[in-house]
Amino acid sequence: MHITSYGAAETVTGSCHLLETAGKRILIDCGLYQGSRELDDLNQQPLPFDAASLDVVLVTHGHLDHVGRLPLLIKGGYQGKIHCTPATRAVTEIILRDAAHIAEEDHERDLRKARRQGREHEVKPPLYQTPDIDLLMERLQPDASWEKPLEFEGIQIRFHPAGHVLGSAWIEIEHEGQKVVFSGDLGNRESPVEADFLLPGPCNAVVIESTYGNRLHRSQKETVDEFAGVLKESLRKDGKVLIPSFALERTQNILYVLRQLQEEGRIPLTPIYLDSPMGSRITRLYETLGGEFNPDVEHDLQEGDRPFSPENLHVTASTAESRMLNDLKGGAIILAGSGMLTGGRIVHHLKHHLWKDTTSLVIVGYQSPNSLGGRLIAGAEKVRIHGEEVLVRASVHTIGGFSAHADQDDLLAFLAPTGNARVHLVHGDLQVMQVFQQVLEAAGREVTINKYAQSYPVAEP
Ligand SMILES: [Zn+2]
Repeated sequence: MHITSYGAAETVTGSCHLLETAGKRILIDCGLYQGSRELDDLNQQPLPFDAASLDVVLVTHGHLDHVGRLPLLIKGGYQGKIHCTPATRAVTEIILRDAAHIAEEDHERDLRKARRQGREHEVKPPLYQTPDIDLLMERLQPDASWEKPLEFEGIQIRFHPAGHVLGSAWIEIEHEGQKVVFSGDLGNRESPVEADFLLPGPCNAVVIESTYGNRLHRSQKETVDEFAGVLKESLRKDGKVLIPSFALERTQNILYVLRQLQEEGRIPLTPIYLDSPMGSRITRLYETLGGEFNPDVEHDLQEGDRPFSPENLHVTASTAESRMLNDLKGGAIILAGSGMLTGGRIVHHLKHHLWKDTTSLVIVGYQSPNSLGGRLIAGAEKVRIHGEEVLVRASVHTIGGFSAHADQDDLLAFLAPTGNARVHLVHGDLQVMQVFQQVLEAAGREVTINKYAQSYPVAEP
């Protein structure tokens, strides 16, 4: 057996790993690079392997950095099926259709601009378009279940709950007595919604994400207390509380916590607007697909309660409805995407409300330092939005504890039962992985930080 990483090697995004065993080639994830222009350019490069030579493709979960290059496999001549859990298939379809739609719109805009300047030929085609997603969906098989392994020419493939987002799995591949575990992304064991990941057993190698391999998250109780405090203080000003939120996982977690805080009487029954079409589509999946959440959430779903619907929740579907929020009087909580403020409806809300001192911006997810969100966190007094200068009079709060990822303790807990399996670190910044490597080596583990396109043999049992 050999393991090769063609993405998320010494970086966080672009997950793509190849396992070769007895001449069979199994690909695990094929995600997009994200976060900077240089990384974005990597997506435009041809795939670093022959897609037609693959025998099986497996998907751990529906985040874009794990599924965003899947359409390129089909374009590259891959003839086989792509396997995932039913929930991951549903999530992936929503995420990739949205990504294709945005890519088409961006391409149109670039083309119009280039035409005016007579340099149309310089505009690159979109990475993929809606018809490419249609083709992909025909291949994406929702046949991975927690109960029954997939069997492929004597190779056993098992999916287990990863507790990261709806449908997320870690994958165990076994062939002729050798066993390798691919963690995908592992969840935060303190998540109020997602259940804890299942623990693996002894194996020969573990390919593990290490996003937060160097740190511990703040406890969920402290996080929720802090969030409640900020909301209470902000709502007293009778202004808008803007919460930029990722459509998958963060939106549902925040809705769940808002409902809890209302039930405990810790925040007033202010109107709450979910102003994210993708967020509301995925929330519907959370309500209908369940079966993998914490017992309290599962209990609510079985009783017909709606754990992701706090009192006074309004879902705004059309852009016209979203625009009407601009003139809304009084206090309200508005959840909108994108989570990193790189586009979407949240940007319009910022433009209309950042200049008011009654507004509060509550950041509940990661913002890269050079982004609009990063500048606001750093205390910028004015920002440019859609070419206009906007004064920042709103108060900006950062709640750091709502993470969908395992922290160092969670990762160590996952690795503990794997015996003396070699640990391959992927999906992390290099400095973070070096810290985690030291921690693991001090505990006697053998550790490799996977390099891009380098092939590592799996030790014989
Ligand atoms: Zn993920």
